[in-house]
Amino acid sequence: MKMIEMPVIDQAKCNGCGLCLSVCSCQALVLVGNVVTAVETTDCGWCTLCEAVCPTGAIRCLYEVVIEE
Ligand code: SF4
Ligand code: SF4
Repeated sequence: MKMIEMPVIDQAKCNGCGLCLSVCSCQALVLVGNVVTAVETTDCGWCTLCEAVCPTGAIRCLYEVVIEE
């Protein structure tokens, strides 16, 4: 299983509540103009808490399954 490097944010769904920032231990998320943006230079710990607390479904922690032969 391969993780995508950073959570994917649908900025159209973000209401700027800041809940995701409050649970992120890696400072990987910032509010810019009341919309969350992922800081690409930060190492995301992939705890998926941001996805879990977001009330609007704006953040998704995606991964892809890679089958190796
Ligand atoms: S998955 Fe965890 S470490 Fe990564 S941005 Fe979300 S809350 Fe922060
Ligand atoms: S928890 Fe969801 S709605 Fe709230 S600031 Fe984060 S991405 Fe936006």
